[in-house]
Amino acid sequence: MILKHFSELEEFLAKPREIVIIGHRNPDGDAVGSTLGLKHYLDKKGHSTQVVMPNEYPDFLHWIPGSETVKRFDRQNNQSVKALNRSEIVFLLDFNALHRVGDDMKNTLEKYENDFALIDHHQQPDDFTYMYSDTSMSSTCQMVYNFIEMMGDVDLIDKNIATCLYTGIMTDTGSFRFRSTTSRTHRIIADLIDKGAENDRIHSSVHDANSYNRLLLLGQALSNLQIYPEYKTAFISLSQEEKDKFNYEKGDTEGVVNYALSLKGIVFGVIFIEDKEQGIVKISFRSKGKFSVNQFARKYFNGGGHDNAAGGKSTESLQDTIKSFVALLPEYKEELLSSYEE
Ligand code: 5GP
Ligand code: MN
Repeated sequence: MILKHFSELEEFLAKPREIVIIGHRNPDGDAVGSTLGLKHYLDKKGHSTQVVMPNEYPDFLHWIPGSETVKRFDRQNNQSVKALNRSEIVFLLDFNALHRVGDDMKNTLEKYENDFALIDHHQQPDDFTYMYSDTSMSSTCQMVYNFIEMMGDVDLIDKNIATCLYTGIMTDTGSFRFRSTTSRTHRIIADLIDKGAENDRIHSSVHDANSYNRLLLLGQALSNLQIYPEYKTAFISLSQEEKDKFNYEKGDTEGVVNYALSLKGIVFGVIFIEDKEQGIVKISFRSKGKFSVNQFARKYFNGGGHDNAAGGKSTESLQDTIKSFVALLPEYKEELLSSYEE
């Protein structure tokens, strides 16, 4: 755990400030929940805040309180840059290094003259003026709860803040089932329900928002599943053509990788998603037990993340990416077979 210059930050926040809050590119539930949860809290403290996201996020996250106030750096560039120029501090939430916001926004942030404050649970964070980094945390939303607690303000958590934080904890823990879920996570969740988070509605808003096409795309993904039992590995691929056929929209492939990992005996699940527009194959890695997909993604696929959930990309074709991936498996045979005791 790194907690750097917290009391200085607390002192800085003793006066009303102009604040920008940023999440990572392709924001997920934890990025949206933590940025908006922090926003509602800081607004209540008398600050003036603006959440800026690098790009769009899926429809099933748009109901989150405050979502309508978010500016997109790619689409609302002038307003985003103005907010940054006005701001006295920038909070970076749910990512560990500036390149995770994408090249355009990174270039702008690199010229930023005031201080950054990082709150994040990813491994190997870059150095910023103010830091609260803890890779043992289930989610950045859990850390925002802790941050509010460290500020002595748990009593300020209202229904909006509770709803935002519940959402990110829920999505980043796979509905409270991943290894990062602790008794403390459940205690925080219980408190958020007490403070007004409507848990049944939140689950439904996120998980029961499928379009028919999304289910058909899932069907396609499942029929593309390949299993390598000798490496306890299973992977799914989706080509651009298949995505187009079912009118792919952002978020449609969210969570699909977990089906690979849901197979009995599988400890390494992967999805390869072709993105012709960006000229890349986006990859998601998931594991059970000791096998670190963070290290694997860092070493071979320009990525990273957590021990059991990481992402990366390849500029090879979909077929070549998969070939390269399969060729790596023999080297990891022992590690994969001993990763998780059933
Ligand atoms: P996903 O597979 O859902 O995109 O990402 C899984 C986890 O890995 C998330 O915590 C995400 O923030 C992280 N992640 C995804 N892509 C990258 C990447 O390219 N670099 C790094 N460092 N982390 C990533
Ligand atoms: Mn997260």
